[in-house]
Amino acid sequence: MKFNTKLIHGGISQDKATGAVTVPIYQTSTYAQKELAGTPEYEYSRTGNPTRKAVEDLIRDLENGTAGFAFASGSAAIHTVFTLFSAGDHIIVGNDVYGGTFRLINTVLTRLGLTFTTVDTRNITEVKEAIKENTKAIYLETPTNPLMRITDIKKVSQVAKENDLLTIVDNTFATPYIQRPLDLGADIVVHSASKYLGGHSDLIAGLVVVNKPELASQIGYLQNAIGGILGPQDSWLLQRGIKTLAVRMDAHQCNAAEIYQFLKEDQRVTKIYYPGDETSADFTVVKNQMDGFGGMLSFELEKGLSVKHFIESLQLITLAESLGSVESLVEVPAIMTHGSIPEAIRLKNGISNELIRLSVGIEQAEDLLADLKQGLDAATK
Ligand SMILES: *Cc1c(COP(=O)(O)O)cnc(C)c1O
Repeated sequence: MKFNTKLIHGGISQDKATGAVTVPIYQTSTYAQKELAGTPEYEYSRTGNPTRKAVEDLIRDLENGTAGFAFASGSAAIHTVFTLFSAGDHIIVGNDVYGGTFRLINTVLTRLGLTFTTVDTRNITEVKEAIKENTKAIYLETPTNPLMRITDIKKVSQVAKENDLLTIVDNTFATPYIQRPLDLGADIVVHSASKYLGGHSDLIAGLVVVNKPELASQIGYLQNAIGGILGPQDSWLLQRGIKTLAVRMDAHQCNAAEIYQFLKEDQRVTKIYYPGDETSADFTVVKNQMDGFGGMLSFELEKGLSVKHFIESLQLITLAESLGSVESLVEVPAIMTHGSIPEAIRLKNGISNELIRLSVGIEQAEDLLADLKQGLDAATK
């Protein structure tokens, strides 16, 4: 089955009991058991629920994995994956990961005895040099947020395999429509499904997909033991959102490409971070591992222009955190999503105070371009 067909028919796309063409919402906590001490398929909804199973099997099929798992948020999914490890274990982490992941690592997981080294995962030498005797995994995002840095998943996975480490990839920005990390050698994929997979700014959810039965039983055990599961209503909403992923991503990508061209031609925009930038050093890796450039881009205004005036004059593009939805969103990482990172570290990582991040929606491109143009004019005044 091709990817776009899997979006519609992957996982469990029909109800066996009634033939309903959409999966029902099984709003139940428990299930009648036929015999004492039997082995029923479902016994309690933390452990398993058919609506949740439908979305879990769907993401498994889309990422070409062994099993999928749905959680109450991307953060809950990431936390559960990190509980594969024990006090004393060491994990290598990309230096440009999602702020919430950074917070989870630094203020929660280190307290529980895990240790971390952050590296630029684009640099294989740096990755290799960070490996210690107690290293268990490499955790990375690509493209990163907000600078769209691209890591070669194949290369990192190779180093991981040689050293008996797991490779864990946060695939939120690309989605399996554009990039399938398990096919490139990674062992575990995590998602904030609150973004492109849900796709409509109406849901918080997380997903995990693994590439082998042993990991599937471990994550299944932890999901049940920790209990941060996705409820049946949200599981239903998520599988509904995923069905249109291909058409939405096509529209996001077309609009983002047009906006990139527009910004590139405007002298008031000094820097643009976009996976489709052919002049970027990361572009060869983009061509090799991604099927498109996605719908995210960041840019900087010329010094002296007012970021505040630009943002506040936008009429259509909404000032908000989050990304990956049908409506275009804009934010200033230094003040918003990355505000909790100490300024010195933030600036060192390339996130300036003038940086603006755009999650390009699927509105008509000319309306978005007109909005950006009047925003730039307002910033110039
Ligand atoms: C939003 C996000 C997360 C966290 O997901 P939540 O659903 O908000 O908990 C993790 N990783 C990335 C890349 C994200 O954008």
